[in-house]
Amino acid sequence: MEKYCTNCGTKMNETDRFCPNCGADSNTEAAPVQNNVVQQNYSNAQANNNNVVQGGTKKTNGLAVTSFVCSMVGIVVFGLVMGILAICFGAVGLSRTKYFPEESGKGFAVAGIVVGIIEVIIMILYIVTVRSSYVSLF
Ligand SMILES: [Zn+2]
Repeated sequence: MEKYCTNCGTKMNETDRFCPNCGADSNTEAAPVQNNVVQQNYSNAQANNNNVVQGGTKKTNGLAVTSFVCSMVGIVVFGLVMGILAICFGAVGLSRTKYFPEESGKGFAVAGIVVGIIEVIIMILYIVTVRSSYVSLF
């Protein structure tokens, strides 16, 4: 990506803000060039995402979706294990949204964490209740 001064047409380094020839400020005068750089960084970040998340679809936070799926499975079966998994995946998925804000799925991560915590609490209460009734019966 080559960059030229919008004032005098001198070729500039991509990282240069001011023209080496006339000193014009490229940040205020060459907005289209800046947009191209931003878009390039955006697509680079996406390429990195695809390398990091295996089996994840484009622009979707795979960990967040995994967290949500675990929490849904936990409602039916293995509530304690699935709840803990949902919290773990959700926490990691949520931290990913800071570094990859273009990814969708933040809602899935939050939902996975919330449902996961509820499942863990319910399962612990269930275990405690069963144990105490077991003890009281015998
Ligand atoms: Zn210039």
